[in-house]
Amino acid sequence: VTVFFRPIEKINSVIETYPKGIAGFRRYTEFLDTRPDIADLPGAIAVSGLKGDIAYENVSFGYTPDRTILKGIDLAIRAGETIAFVGPSGAGKTTICSLLPRFYDVDGGKITIDGIDIRQMTLASLRGQIGIVQQDVFLFAGTLRENIAYGKLSASEDEIVEAARRARLDEMIARLPDGLDTVIGERGVKLSGGQKQRLAIARMFLKNPPILILDEATSALDTETERAIQASLAELSKGRTTLVIAHRLATIQDADRIIVIDESGVAEQGRHQELVQRPGIYRRLHEAQYGGRAS
Ligand code: ATP
Repeated sequence: VTVFFRPIEKINSVIETYPKGIAGFRRYTEFLDTRPDIADLPGAIAVSGLKGDIAYENVSFGYTPDRTILKGIDLAIRAGETIAFVGPSGAGKTTICSLLPRFYDVDGGKITIDGIDIRQMTLASLRGQIGIVQQDVFLFAGTLRENIAYGKLSASEDEIVEAARRARLDEMIARLPDGLDTVIGERGVKLSGGQKQRLAIARMFLKNPPILILDEATSALDTETERAIQASLAELSKGRTTLVIAHRLATIQDADRIIVIDESGVAEQGRHQELVQRPGIYRRLHEAQYGGRAS
């Protein structure tokens, strides 16, 4: 995590939450220091205001040369669509998503956004168009206001208050004697898991990227918190292309499209109602996990 002690200018285009335990994103911080292979091409273009049409064309990838994780992946995702990736553990859901911000580069094929190969874009501008929300939220010692504003360093007070409201952090803030000036972190107020998630969501409302990657928590929050977060996430994903590494039944069922990934790649895709009606991996997963409930 040493990267967080770097000057803020260096990382202000990479405003994300930083995981520790999630395989695909784990090396992100390392990469900033040590992955010379992922860099701007000469003449790379700074993109902005992308619509968010995403295409994976015959994508192959392995973390090491001796083991291919993804082979021949073809995906066409329309701007604004919400896609839920489901499938057995280790199938490559996280890996597929981590190729989009170029945490790693494809070994074969290409990934485009709005028809432009992502390797033609500057890394900073590409990552400026992608928001990532995951379980492990990066907080630093400072006030709530500063931690929220990490989503957009130039945010005005009004924007910060609005982002907090949309992420449903406002009630908590109103109860704190120092409000947005409350110091959080080790020496300050400790946030609950749900509050941290909302803070991450508030940052994303500020960042306002056309593309979102949601890495859903596997560990359950209590039902009420879960519902509130689900509602904020639903609002956040509105009008954005959203890729969900899905574990929750609610998100999966509400997705525009479910993509089932197994060792062979994209095994099935469709809406929940379609997939549960035909024999296959999704139906089996669904029955195993939920005993056919809510189908
Ligand atoms: P889960 O549902 O458990 O999160 P997943 O479908 O997201 O699984 P990935 O995390 O993408 O799967 O992992 C796909 C494969 O790649 C696994 O075999 C995993 O061990 C391997 N893998 C993931 N990250 C790395 C890494 N940084 N270095 C080497 N191998 C990795």
